[in-house]
Amino acid sequence: MDAQLYINGTWLEAPENFDVLNPANGEKVGSAANGGRTETNQAIKAAHEAFPKWAAKTAEERAGYLKKLQQLMLEHKDELGELVTKEMGKPLAEAKGEVMYAASFLEWYAEEARRVYGDLIPSNSKDKRFMVMKQPVGVVGAITPWNFPLAMVTRKIAPALAAGCTAVLKPAEDTPLSAIRFAELCAEAEVPNGVINIVTGEAAEIGGAFMEHEAVKKVTFTGSTEVGKLLMKQASEHVKKLSLELGGHAPIIVLDDADIEQAVDGAIASKFRNAGQTCVCGNRIYVQERIYEDFVEKFTERASQLKVGDGLEGDADLGPLINKDGFEKVDRHVQDALKQGAALKTGGSGFEQDGGYFYEPTVLADINHDMVIMEEETFGPVAPIQKVKTDEEAIELANDSRYGLAAYFFTDNLKRGMKVAEALEFGIVGWNDGRPSAAQAPFGGMKESGLDREGGHEGIEAFLETKYVSVGL
Ligand code: NAP
Repeated sequence: MDAQLYINGTWLEAPENFDVLNPANGEKVGSAANGGRTETNQAIKAAHEAFPKWAAKTAEERAGYLKKLQQLMLEHKDELGELVTKEMGKPLAEAKGEVMYAASFLEWYAEEARRVYGDLIPSNSKDKRFMVMKQPVGVVGAITPWNFPLAMVTRKIAPALAAGCTAVLKPAEDTPLSAIRFAELCAEAEVPNGVINIVTGEAAEIGGAFMEHEAVKKVTFTGSTEVGKLLMKQASEHVKKLSLELGGHAPIIVLDDADIEQAVDGAIASKFRNAGQTCVCGNRIYVQERIYEDFVEKFTERASQLKVGDGLEGDADLGPLINKDGFEKVDRHVQDALKQGAALKTGGSGFEQDGGYFYEPTVLADINHDMVIMEEETFGPVAPIQKVKTDEEAIELANDSRYGLAAYFFTDNLKRGMKVAEALEFGIVGWNDGRPSAAQAPFGGMKESGLDREGGHEGIEAFLETKYVSVGL
């Protein structure tokens, strides 16, 4: 696939293209257009011109387009899944799961479009009526990361379109092709020209154009905390509305009355999904001392059975890491922990094969909080396990992070569980659940993990303005 820019319903060339490589073997998957500021401004103009007509459509009409897109995505599930695997690396079954997850946002927001309610407030005077109405913010600039090339796109675009906004999307440089296929499906669904536009290419120029252009009323970003902070600075210039879904460093707490099998299942699912490259992957595990040895043994056994390989080969549980930098970061975390006395239970190294960077599922025990891995986001298949004495110690250590995205804990005791759930400073908490994400639930973080929520009924709020109208009678 040699992709172009999608602007105002037309495919346009950029001065040059860049190659998209398969992280499993370095082979070329296709190329994408290297757009910059000029092309972004062109796309913003198209979105701006399309906005009044799109916003004026009824909620049912907008929902109709989203339902059609959902259907198309499901019809193309296999092909889209293969493309996600080829450009991102996750195993094919997981990639098809991502397609389903991506489609679920289209379905959910097709339904939510019809539930954008306002308010009538009892007024403080007999001859006045107070109304609150919700209106689309306007043109949205959306920036997405590589680790979910399709789902992060629909998690933003579906609520934006449902709310009545038009959008310009900039997907990640490593994975632009899934987003381009999404644009092709938008064209097939006859989404009106200019409602959705896609510009691939120079991140700083495209992001800069979003921030500077007066017509862009909202920027929604998923990616690293570092880039998120940069965007916050840029947004302050024009007080641009901003939603941020940033990095995470999820703790997994296993209390001593937990169902060990359930805890191992949940921790494996949370830790090794996408080879550990999700913002909600468990990054550190705290286990109470009475069950520590048992948990470490069972968790290690399961982790060591996971197969690493090309995601297109049927039996791989873990694909490659996205690139050499990602690989080196993971190895740095492992080596630092080992140097400081961690016990290696399985894995502990990686390998390069045909230009792909793979890391063995790794379990490290006897961890302490001074190790780099307990502070920095690892984004790889490494599970450090620390022994804790009390519930309070586990909570204190879990909260000792600049991040506050996802946390997990395992206990069958209701009272203990409620206390832990309430005390954790995280936007998403999985209680006996290693995979809490769902289209109908709010997703997002506290602290340096971001602003606002995506998913759920909260997800559409980010694309709506609240207008208060006082009517004198
Ligand atoms: P990233 O480097 O911050 O990139 C994310 C997106 O921002 C990409 O499209 C990137 O473009 C773009 N970007 C980079 N520099 C920019 C700039 N100066 N101005 C505007 N845009 C810019 O993050 P990543 O490595 O792709 O993704 C991994 C990070 O995302 C992790 O920290 C992970 O935790 C986080 N994440 C968070 C969530 C969540 O929902 N909270 C979900 C998934 C991932 P290029 O690719 O072209 O550089």
